[in-house]
Amino acid sequence: QAKRSGRGVVVVYTREMEEAAKRVTRIEQALRRAVAAGDVEAHFQPIVDLETRRTVGFETLARWTDHDLGSISPATFIPIAEERGIIGPLSQLLLRKATEAARDWPEQLFLSFNLSPSQLVDHNTGLQILAILERTGFNPRRLEIEITETGLMSDPASAEKIVEDLRRMGIRISLDDFGTGQSSLGRLRDFKFDKLKIDRAFVSSILNDRPSEHIIRAILAMCEGLGMDVVAEGIEEEAQAERLIQFGCTGGQGYLFGRPKDAEATLGFLRSRPGAQLRKVAG
Ligand code: C2E
Ligand code: MG
Ligand code: MG
Ligand code: MG
Repeated sequence: QAKRSGRGVVVVYTREMEEAAKRVTRIEQALRRAVAAGDVEAHFQPIVDLETRRTVGFETLARWTDHDLGSISPATFIPIAEERGIIGPLSQLLLRKATEAARDWPEQLFLSFNLSPSQLVDHNTGLQILAILERTGFNPRRLEIEITETGLMSDPASAEKIVEDLRRMGIRISLDDFGTGQSSLGRLRDFKFDKLKIDRAFVSSILNDRPSEHIIRAILAMCEGLGMDVVAEGIEEEAQAERLIQFGCTGGQGYLFGRPKDAEATLGFLRSRPGAQLRKVAG
């Protein structure tokens, strides 16, 4: 009896793994088609000045709904795109759409864009980004590239070269999800980041967890000393925003200020602001 159920467990487990592998392959194939057809969308989430609540820029976040598979989270499809070699064309599609949308925003708003780890070992990344900015006529000084510590790890020398290329074009570099991943303070000494984004994990527990509070205060002190801008991610409650302001944090992002929206809704939001000065938009 025990033996049989033991075998049963092994069989079920294997079948589950097979199902999971099949699903990944289905997602991969559908994603290839979607990228070729230009069917992955760029959405935008506001980043605000915590004190004034003015929007200062937007982060680009990929959104994809497949006809059969439904809506799939970037947390699922971005790693698959990475593993299966689709991230290059996917990223180029998104950057083109994002910069085309952001061209119509007020000049002073920045656009931030996530790069995946594999793009930081690909020496073509800098040129590809430049080519897209030239084509869409987007000012590189309004662009911010978000990278993670994991992205810097696999080949730090190559990552450093790519970061330098981007910097020379006037693009700013921001360190995303700080405090999770494979943190190394040495990286903050060697790389020059313009901005640091404090991971949501610390922000979500800032009100009821002393360690998180201390870590956030230490990060803020470090950013100030190193001359880096700082944004706290995943702010959902007013009380979290208040506490962050009290600790001296200047930038914020989270559902409290706005969820990611598509290009049209983002433009609508910007138009509705008092004193909005938008560039002329067709239609
Ligand atoms: P990320 O770059 O750290 O982006 C922030 C994530 O937090 C987004 O999830 C955003 O929707 C979510 N978020 C923002 N505010 C809140 C909040 O108040 N509460 C909660 N619970 N979540 C909040 P999303 O859009 O699902 O993206 C997940 C991750 O997928 C991103 O994390 C990023 O690593 C990756 N990703 C998304 N779009 C792209 C892309 O175009 N290229 C690359 N390479 N990666 C992307
Ligand atoms: Mg990000
Ligand atoms: Mg982040
Ligand atoms: Mg994250």
